[in-house]
Amino acid sequence: MADQLSGAGLAAASDIPSLDRLLNADALQPALATHGRTQVVAALRRDLDALRKRALDGGVPRHELEAAAVAGRTSAALDEAARPRLRAVYNLTGTVLHTNLGRALLPDEAVASVLRALTTPANLEFDLDTGGRGDRDDLIDDLLCELTGAEAATVVNNNAAAVLLMLNALADRREVVVSRGELVEIGGAFRIPDIMKRAGAKLIEVGTTNRTHAADYENAIGPRTAMLMKVHCSNYAVTGFTKSVSVAEVAALAHARGLPATVDLGSGTLVDLTQFGLPKEDTVRETIAAGADLVTFSGDKLLGGPQAGLLVGRADLIRKIKKNPLKRALRVSKLTLAALEPVLQLYRAPEFLAQRLTTLRLLTRPLRDIQPQAERLRGVLAHAAGPGYAVEAVPMFSQIGSGALPIDQLPSYGLAVRHAGTGRPGRHLDRLETLLRKLPVPVIGRIADDALWLDLRCLEDRDEAAFAAQLAEPLA
Ligand SMILES: *Cc1c(COP(=O)(O)O)cnc(C)c1O
Repeated sequence: MADQLSGAGLAAASDIPSLDRLLNADALQPALATHGRTQVVAALRRDLDALRKRALDGGVPRHELEAAAVAGRTSAALDEAARPRLRAVYNLTGTVLHTNLGRALLPDEAVASVLRALTTPANLEFDLDTGGRGDRDDLIDDLLCELTGAEAATVVNNNAAAVLLMLNALADRREVVVSRGELVEIGGAFRIPDIMKRAGAKLIEVGTTNRTHAADYENAIGPRTAMLMKVHCSNYAVTGFTKSVSVAEVAALAHARGLPATVDLGSGTLVDLTQFGLPKEDTVRETIAAGADLVTFSGDKLLGGPQAGLLVGRADLIRKIKKNPLKRALRVSKLTLAALEPVLQLYRAPEFLAQRLTTLRLLTRPLRDIQPQAERLRGVLAHAAGPGYAVEAVPMFSQIGSGALPIDQLPSYGLAVRHAGTGRPGRHLDRLETLLRKLPVPVIGRIADDALWLDLRCLEDRDEAAFAAQLAEPLA
């Protein structure tokens, strides 16, 4: 019986080739050249252990022991383990600044600058005029001042860090007055009351959730008050019977008592978005002009740059902030500065901004480009999805995302996939969503109202061919 089995192609444990023989086999040489001996030996051991176990349990088909077969499995396992974890995806969620998908995409100028800074020495903290030591903030603070009208500027790792640093530098063991309507929680556990505590400042809440008056701020000011602070309501809106106090009014109240007024603008924009047909958002310049002594905002939201937290405002306050030890802990790397500078430079020529700044280009991408694209790709997706799914090109709405203008929506176009069968469509949609997510370049959409929605706003024309090529065959 045993003879019959081996005759039928089953091998025994004693037939398994040795590690040394495999390492010398021609078939293993490409894997050795790519992954190195350490990794190949470890992978071979795992493969041979599995073969031995199966051989003892009953037998392994002989062809699985051939060097070429072992090499194939080993290479596949090693290639898989070496595959980048951080991968490119198609963002068809309809949220342009999607925090989970990496927020703003950098324009080419910024990418080239990062590459240069990473591969060559640079004057990061070296003054080329004097030959002495420089300050890394000097590389961009004049640009930030020019673009915002502020006296001084500095930059840290993200806006959460900027708020933490500002509060610790200016309000440690003192009080900060904030309206109850602005005690926001941003995704990822950034809560104003928590950050305040960590910074060592005491939060004094004033007003109510829906209404805060100037007198509320005024009555809260006491001997321990360090500042009046306003926070952008990023991801929600208070509507109905509401009242809030403007930056100008809060600044006037603060200044009358010799206190600074600070504003966490969140997304923060450097240009009037209405000139691009987008909803109105207060610019950093307007906020400074209204009397804010210090403004904090993100680098990778509406600004369209790298992750960063920007602080702009009065020179004496910025000086104090730069002297705080937390500044050193929260400082940005040269990558950030290399990416930020070209992005800020783009703002100096606002007439080209909607073309050159990726974020703005996506936000302003016209329907006349998106709709025909949806119609071109409808058949492609229908073929890939296979029978049972109905794909339509339909109008939809995109969101800016990242807490910018949370209730405003941008008219867009895309594909809606429904399952034609009876019964619960959810399972079929989940299946299709998974298949799209497993593609070499995963396609990320969203499921709502018994349909899978793919908003094409962020699929720029230059990426369309590669996108369609992935869908050329039916998804299995
Ligand atoms: C997004 C946001 C933050 C946090 O900014 P990060 O750059 O993500 O750290 C802080 N405050 C407000 C109001 C925000 O909208």
